[in-house]
Amino acid sequence: MDNEMTLSFVAIEENEALARIAMTCFITPLDPTLEEISEFKTIVSEAVTNAIIHGYNIDGRSLVTIHATIDEQKVTMTVSDEGEGIEDIERAMEPMFTTRPYMERSGMGFTIMESFSDNLKVESRIGKGTVVKFEK
Ligand code: ATP
Ligand code: MG
Repeated sequence: MDNEMTLSFVAIEENEALARIAMTCFITPLDPTLEEISEFKTIVSEAVTNAIIHGYNIDGRSLVTIHATIDEQKVTMTVSDEGEGIEDIERAMEPMFTTRPYMERSGMGFTIMESFSDNLKVESRIGKGTVVKFEK
């Protein structure tokens, strides 16, 4: 079964759960294993949290957008924000790199997303925003 969806929500931390639950429902028709569901939730959670916190500084009004498709058992998902942007993507993706050590972030988000997805691409421009694209 092929499917497509778009979901936009404002940058408040509560909406991480909304995104996680929506994406879990979206992939359910594919009969994922518990492990696949758990990995998927983690990917969504890390990407959406990054957009809310780093992209928009939890401003409560700018929109994070998820777009997802299912095409012959393959799930593709993009998480986009039009926020701050990332200065050096390569560096941001290194394990333990974080620009917010004071918020008790460990800098492992991208590393975890990469290990759980088949393909991960990040595009970003300072002041324009960030798009993170996964395949799984
Ligand atoms: P953790 O995810 O472990 O809580 P973290 O969010 O700092 O910590 P990553 O998710 O790996 O770690 O992200 C690394 C860095 O990339 C962030 O500290 C931030 O500077 C930058 N970054 C990631 N996503 C975005 C985004 N959507 N907009 C702006 N900057 C981002
Ligand atoms: Mg993160």
